[in-house]
Amino acid sequence: MSFVTRFAPSPTGPLHLGHAYSALLAHDMARAARGQFLLRIEDIDQSRARPKWEAQIYDDLAWLGLSWPQPVMRQSDRQPAYLAALDRLKASGLIYACTCNRLDIAQAANAPQEGVPPVIGPDGVVYPGTCRNKGLTDGAWRLNMAAALQVLGDTPLSFTETGAGPEGQTGEITLSTQDALRGIGDVVLARRDMGTSYHLSVVLDDAAQGVTHVVRGQDLFEATYIHVILQRLTVLSSPTYHHHALIRDDTGKRLAKRDDARAIATYRRDGMKPQDIRHLLGL
Ligand code: GLU
Repeated sequence: MSFVTRFAPSPTGPLHLGHAYSALLAHDMARAARGQFLLRIEDIDQSRARPKWEAQIYDDLAWLGLSWPQPVMRQSDRQPAYLAALDRLKASGLIYACTCNRLDIAQAANAPQEGVPPVIGPDGVVYPGTCRNKGLTDGAWRLNMAAALQVLGDTPLSFTETGAGPEGQTGEITLSTQDALRGIGDVVLARRDMGTSYHLSVVLDDAAQGVTHVVRGQDLFEATYIHVILQRLTVLSSPTYHHHALIRDDTGKRLAKRDDARAIATYRRDGMKPQDIRHLLGL
């Protein structure tokens, strides 16, 4: 199949208009390309995932008129694949254990140059490297970005964007090794409490599902750089990416899970029809 896309919600709250936009857009793009629309439940964060939200995702998406093949991939079933990938990265010496908490990181990131703000990457403050050479065997597992870039050598870190990033980035997007080191740094690939991370799981799952086109919100554009680096390291090809604008509320703020007023369930209760939702979203 030349066009396989997916919608990958986390069952940690009700789907809102922003989710509906992402799902409908991906579904419509797949239909136009005579491709496939898949669903994936991103429930690695078991402290926040709830069966009731998962059930509501199925219900809301079906109500919106979407359908998808069964069985649905659930990340909570995929731990062995995540572990195997981590083991391979450990064996190649590209990841290291880290026991820093947020406060340690904030303090260390500020320490070298008082007054100079720390660099903020896709996952927050870029890790200052405190545990990089400690040889710890337990904790969160971080990518040693410098070592990873060395292994990748001249492999170009680029992907094709058919939508746009937050600054209008589109077309062939390239990340320089400088920017990867300075702007991303040693990201966490396995959280201590999860045994994996959003980045590692999403890359492995997209590959396992044969996804050729990732359609998702612009808030994840910067994370794509991390995904491309992981795809190169784990010898997976990169899908094409299509990042779309975020749906905002009347004050311009992006919608959050707790924004119940714009939950699909609320619109349904108020008597709206799926066609009204499409209309509201300009689809
Ligand atoms: N699970 C993510 C979310 O709900 C989406 C991940 C992705 O599309 O790559 O925001």
